[in-house]
Order: sequence, then structure tokens, then C-alpha cells
Amino acid sequence: MNGPAVVNEVGPRDGLQSESRILSIDERLELIRSLEAAGLRRIEVGSFSSPRAVPAMAGTDRVLERLNGGGPTTYTAMVPNVKGYGLAREAGAESVTVIAYASETMAGRNVRMTLAEADRAGGEILRLAAQDGVEAIVIVAVAFGCPFEGAVDPGVVVDVAARYIDAGASQLVVADTIGAADPAQVGRLIRRLVEQHGPERLGCHFHDTRAMGLANIYAALEAGIRWFDSSIAGLGGCPFATGASGNVATEDAVMMLEQMGYDTGVDLKRLLAASDLATRLTGTAPGGRAREWLRGQVGASAMRGSP
Ligand code: ZN
Repeated sequence: MNGPAVVNEVGPRDGLQSESRILSIDERLELIRSLEAAGLRRIEVGSFSSPRAVPAMAGTDRVLERLNGGGPTTYTAMVPNVKGYGLAREAGAESVTVIAYASETMAGRNVRMTLAEADRAGGEILRLAAQDGVEAIVIVAVAFGCPFEGAVDPGVVVDVAARYIDAGASQLVVADTIGAADPAQVGRLIRRLVEQHGPERLGCHFHDTRAMGLANIYAALEAGIRWFDSSIAGLGGCPFATGASGNVATEDAVMMLEQMGYDTGVDLKRLLAASDLATRLTGTAPGGRAREWLRGQVGASAMRGSP
């Protein structure tokens, strides 16, 4: 065995907020519970964005309240600003995700802030989270390429990462929001970050837009990363990037990690059920490349009568 690897499921937030069909609170809870039943212990369950801006995430307070915490799963909610942090706390959130930006234009489009303003808001959320004993995961968006500005200077990402780690981020997740990265580029940037901060507090978030998602995960693994965001059935995308079709599918990431000897704690058969559910609920989730193969495996073991 190669030891544990964390798979942080982002489908119910990053995924669903880009899907055209808006799910009901009950449907979102059904999806979250099926992911939990598959053994995922970290799930991004929603966001406290304005419901006008992101209608699919309206009612995240009710989702959190009904999930009720206390079990082995950490539910995290995205908070776009200090006000969102307050709402998340009112709903009982014990973990929040904060978005940092490596591009001025992306910050402007996503939260209508300059980079400096977004950093100030992020710093304030981290300060409050530390005070409240709340876990704060920071995700650095567009770390490899920006739909507006093109290539992103790795030096900017290194600076942003250092600022947020110094400010107390529990986890710093480097995100390829539009699927622009290649494995060599991932290896270079991640090795640089691991040299500075060690691998434990770092993570990666890849999109499979150009079929390099798993290759990028492999490059990050080789650089020491053991935390990967993924999205069930490949849900999601980026509203600003043409063809940014979705996050790496959780079933693909888990299948590769498990076959390579990393322990994700996830039951692939149950994960297949969650993937099918994601597609049934949204009507559009493509499903990972592993899905049909997994279906064959599950069918074969059922015929043999094995558990
Ligand atoms: Zn994503």
C-alpha cells in the first residue's frame, strides 16, 4: 500500500452550480448521502453565494442543517465573502472553503472584487475561522490558466499560496479551473510549493476539459500531494470558459488511486450508484470514463454471487 489519499468530493457545489438543472434541497441531500454511503468523508455540500447570482446553491443553510454533522464526514461550504461566512456559521458550518484568485480579471468576474480586495476578504475570513475553530480550505482558482488573461505566472500562484498558508489556511488547494494545465507544468509548480510548505497542507483540483485530469493528478501525486478534489460523474464546469466541461470524475480518480495502492476509503460499487444518481438527477452529468467498466465489474461479481 502507498498510504492514504484524501478525495474531496466537490460535486454537490462546484459541480451542481454549473449544471443547467437546479436540484431541490431533497435531491441535493440524496446525492450527498449517496456519496457519504460510498465512503467519501469530505464533501463540499453547497455555497453561501447570493441565491440571485448562483440559484443552484440557494438553501445551502437548510442542506447543512439537515445533514446535522457529528458523524465521520466533514461537510464544507463555500463562502464568497465575509457575509457568506457569517451565514455559514449561523447554519452550523464547521468547515468553509474560501476562493483565492491568481488572476485579476477572474476575481472581478467571479466576486466583483479586485485581487487586493479578494485577498483582504479572504484574510478576514481566515481570521474569523481561526477564532471560531472552523476549518478553512483555500482554493486558488485559475492557478494554471485564466479564461480572460491566458497563461498565469507561477510566481503569482506561489505568492498567493504563501500568503494564505501564513494566514492560517488549513488546506491550500491549487485549482486548474478551466482545464488548462499539463502534467509537466503541474509537476513544476507543485514541486515548488511542496519545497516551501511540505505536502500535507497542499491539495490539487483538476478539470478534465482536455482529457489531462488523471495525468495531472498523477503528476501531483509524484510531487507528494495526497489531497485531490473531484466531482462525482464529472459534474460541473466553469461558466466563463468555453468547453471547460467539468471536474475530474470521482470514479476515475478513485479507481486510479486505489489501483495504484492508495487507500481512499471509497467503495467503488457504491460510488457507481452515486455516479448514476448524479446523472439521473441532473440529466447532463457525463459520468467518468471508469463508469461503464465499473458497471461491468459489479455485474460480473453479482453473477458470481460475491458480495
Ligand atoms: Zn472545479
